[in-house]
Amino acid sequence: MKRPIAIIGGSGVKSILKGEQKVLGTPYGPTPNLTIGEVEGRPAIFLPRHGEAHSDPPHKVNYRANIWGLKSLGVERIIATNAVGAIDQSLTPGEIVIPSDIVDVTKSRAGTFYEGSPVTHVDVSQPYCPREREVLAQSTASAGRRSPKDAVMACTEGPRYETPAEIKMLRTMGCHIVGMTGAPEVFLARELEICYASISFVSNMAAGLQRTLSAREVEEKGRETSQVLNKILAGAIASMPESRKDCPCGTALSQAQLKKEVVEVAQ
Ligand SMILES: [Zn+2]
Repeated sequence: MKRPIAIIGGSGVKSILKGEQKVLGTPYGPTPNLTIGEVEGRPAIFLPRHGEAHSDPPHKVNYRANIWGLKSLGVERIIATNAVGAIDQSLTPGEIVIPSDIVDVTKSRAGTFYEGSPVTHVDVSQPYCPREREVLAQSTASAGRRSPKDAVMACTEGPRYETPAEIKMLRTMGCHIVGMTGAPEVFLARELEICYASISFVSNMAAGLQRTLSAREVEEKGRETSQVLNKILAGAIASMPESRKDCPCGTALSQAQLKKEVVEVAQ
C-alpha cells in the first residue's frame, strides 16, 4: 500500500478529493475534518487549513495539530497551497509560484514540536523539498502555466494585510511574494521528516502596488485559479515518486539533535 500524499489548502482545492471524513485527536488538539480518499489512483488526504467553514484565521490555525495528525496517518509528502500577494512587480494576479525559500516574520505562533529535551535544531538550508518542487514545476508547465524558477515567500502574522512600508522592507529582504500561512507549517513538516512543498497563486499585488486590498478580491481570484490548481495538483500527485532518497527531508533529524556526550561537554 502506497503512503498517502496530503494536500493542505483552502476550500477551492477540496473538490479534488472525495472520501471518508475524519477528525483526528493529537497532543496539540483536534485536526480539522480531513477527507481521506484517492487522487489519480493514489491514496491522498485533504486537510482544510482554516477549518471546514474557513473559520480559523491564519494566526490561529493549529499548525502543530495539522502536521502531527498527517504524520500519524503515515504521510511522508505534503503539498500545500497558499494565496499570496505579489511583492515582485513582474508577477501578476493569477500567476503560479512555487517558493524556493521563506522569510518568517510571524510573531505569536507555536513554531516547533521540540519545546524541551532533546534540543533539536533542524536544518532548513532547503526549506522546501527540492524533489517535490521539481514535480510541481513540471506539472505546472504541463498545465500550460509558467512559474518562476526561484521565489522567496514572506510569511506575515496577519490577519490584517501588510502596510506599504512593510512590503518595501520585505522587498529589500529579497522576498517576491507574501502570505500568512507558509510558516511555521513548512518547518513543522521538516521537524517530523515530512517532505513539503508549496504551490502559491498570486491573488493580488501587495500593499502599495495596487489601490487597496480586499479579502473578497483574494477569494474571487482563488475561485478563478482553483481549476488550474487542481489540475496541477492532480498531475503532481500522479507523478510524485514514492522513494525519498534524493532529498534531505526524510533524514532531517539524524543530524539535528545534540549527542548526549556533546550536551555533557556543553554543560
Ligand atoms: Zn523531500
